[in-house]
Amino acid sequence: LLDADGTTRPTIFAEMTALAARTGAINLGQGFPDADGPAWVREAAVEAIRGGVNQYPPGRGVPELRRAVADHQARHHGMSLDPATEVLVTAGATEALTAAVLALAGPGDEVLTLEPFYDSHAAAVALAGATHTTVPLVRGPEGFRLDVTALANAVSPRTRVILLNSPHNPTGAVLTRAELEALAAAAVRADAVVVTDEVYEHLVYDDAAHVPIATLPGMAERTITISSAGKTFSLTGWKIGWATGPAHLVEAVLAVKQFLTYSGGAPFQPAIARALERGDADVAALRDSLAQRRDLLVAGLEDAGLAAVRPEGTYFVCADASALLTPDLPDGAALARALPAAVGVASIPVSAFCRAGSPTASAVAPLLRFTFSKDRSTLEEALRRLRTLR
Ligand code: PMP
Ligand code: GLN
Repeated sequence: LLDADGTTRPTIFAEMTALAARTGAINLGQGFPDADGPAWVREAAVEAIRGGVNQYPPGRGVPELRRAVADHQARHHGMSLDPATEVLVTAGATEALTAAVLALAGPGDEVLTLEPFYDSHAAAVALAGATHTTVPLVRGPEGFRLDVTALANAVSPRTRVILLNSPHNPTGAVLTRAELEALAAAAVRADAVVVTDEVYEHLVYDDAAHVPIATLPGMAERTITISSAGKTFSLTGWKIGWATGPAHLVEAVLAVKQFLTYSGGAPFQPAIARALERGDADVAALRDSLAQRRDLLVAGLEDAGLAAVRPEGTYFVCADASALLTPDLPDGAALARALPAAVGVASIPVSAFCRAGSPTASAVAPLLRFTFSKDRSTLEEALRRLRTLR
């Protein structure tokens, strides 16, 4: 987590955002929307601040938000949760993920993630002092799919946690029921807990359907499901997230969370409760708008000579830049660092979501990740710039 000289290394998102700012490039790297979430939700937070909701909320989160999360999980996914004991509010999904891994795994334990993986998943495993093992998502005609054969070999009796993410950042894959069944069977075999990062649960397109692994037979009792309001309501800076699951697992996450932040986001909690209760139409509108922007970006990248993998979910597209690589810019990592100055567009190299030197890192070396969470006009201008590369 530190560089050899003892300084902290910025995340790839911070690095590429700083590079975009320095070069004046359009930032299609870091995933956050141009447009803030619904005005009525933001207004609810302002009202809460004016109304005096400014001191520590309870460590588990305010009761109305825990109730709204439980209702949301029931309404959208058919999950049945007790808001008093089976829901925990956290400082974004990031805190829930890290607290869960710290609570469940330590030195000598293995934590299995998908590869590519979201960067904080690997960092959480490192903070816990556990061993990080991975199972690849492999690019094929159907997009990125779980390597089910590799899964059998990746799970061992030391696997304590299987840390999932679907819809998946960066590939845009939405794990199918069959893939989830294979993962569930592996978890049962290893007697592992599944920690599942579902922050893009509502950003799924076409025929893809998000299935929480906790809803598979026998899985509710061994799964911690994590999500947040950041992506669903375009309020990434509010950092209101949650973990749901059986009381003993939620208790374990709380045991760590109480010494990370204890609690936070007092005025945002009632506002997000309101958003979860009454925001389904806003979420549907965001999904429709993102689906159109996805089509724009996929077609435009193809036009620019970047072979895009059409995502089933999230707001990211991975595109193969092999046609643009040269001896000076031999892979996506080099190209991503050159593109902001060269054409004024920032992206993220997909290899940054892999373990250095792993077979998956090699497989995705020519790929760049672009976000379509930006306005149409911003995407159009970025694509105009990228077309100059042809
Ligand atoms: N998980 C994934 C897969 C993400 O892409 C992100 C980022 N935005 C997060 C977790 C972090 O969520 P939050 O901002 O709620 O901490
Ligand atoms: N989740 C966002 C992404 O994948 C970035 C969040 C961050 O900057 N850590 O782009």
